[in-house]
Amino acid sequence: MRLIDHHAHLTSEQYQGRLDEIIQRAAESGVEKIITVGTELKDSHDSFEIARKFENVFFTAGFHPHEAKSADDQSIEQIRLLLREDKAAALGEIGLDYYYEFSSRDQQKEAFLRQLEIAAEENIPVVIHSRDAFDDTAEILSKYSQKLPAVVIHCFGEGPEQAEYCLRQGWFVSFTGVVTFKNAEKTRQAAAVVPPERLLVETDCPYMSPAPLRKYKTNEPSFIVHIARKLAEVKGVEENQMSENLSQNAESVFRI
Ligand SMILES: [Zn+2]
Repeated sequence: MRLIDHHAHLTSEQYQGRLDEIIQRAAESGVEKIITVGTELKDSHDSFEIARKFENVFFTAGFHPHEAKSADDQSIEQIRLLLREDKAAALGEIGLDYYYEFSSRDQQKEAFLRQLEIAAEENIPVVIHSRDAFDDTAEILSKYSQKLPAVVIHCFGEGPEQAEYCLRQGWFVSFTGVVTFKNAEKTRQAAAVVPPERLLVETDCPYMSPAPLRKYKTNEPSFIVHIARKLAEVKGVEENQMSENLSQNAESVFRI
């Protein structure tokens, strides 16, 4: 089956010196394209560099909510310039994280809003991170989503009700290895309500290896096969049909 990992952190220090091997292994597992996701300015630059080096790697640029406190005017303008490069797939990951709250809620909201403005101006999709902050994220996002080419709710961690809210707004809902975890019935229920045309899959590596590979602490793009398989099972469709569907969605959303 062919797959696309639209959310990987290839800049992670866990891949240092092993990137060729990791990307090669992904290709051998059917992963045709990877998007490496930026989390602040330097990380976005580094992601861009990786995309320049590897033909099948694309990148995003943006300030993760953890890094919102360092998102000043100048650095946000730098993000805008990066988004104009070839192989820039989206602005992200951006959003709100009230679980860790590494930046204050006000700082997070401000950085989120300013980056949504830029995404609208640059006409580029957004990749959304939301943890323990669904209501605020949804409220802010719903005001902008009409102006954006696409909205992807990455690593969806809510239940079916919230998934349905996202669907009504026209957003895409993306699942990670969490959907394979024994205790993640709620996440599977959410996946079950997402129609095939709005469903996406990602690893969010190096975090959260899917079952049955949880013994490997460092997740990687080749592991995405197990997540896609679980989604096929949840949706009751054949694996190849699911992987083709997921790949086409990623290609059309991110224009890659
Ligand atoms: Zn991420």
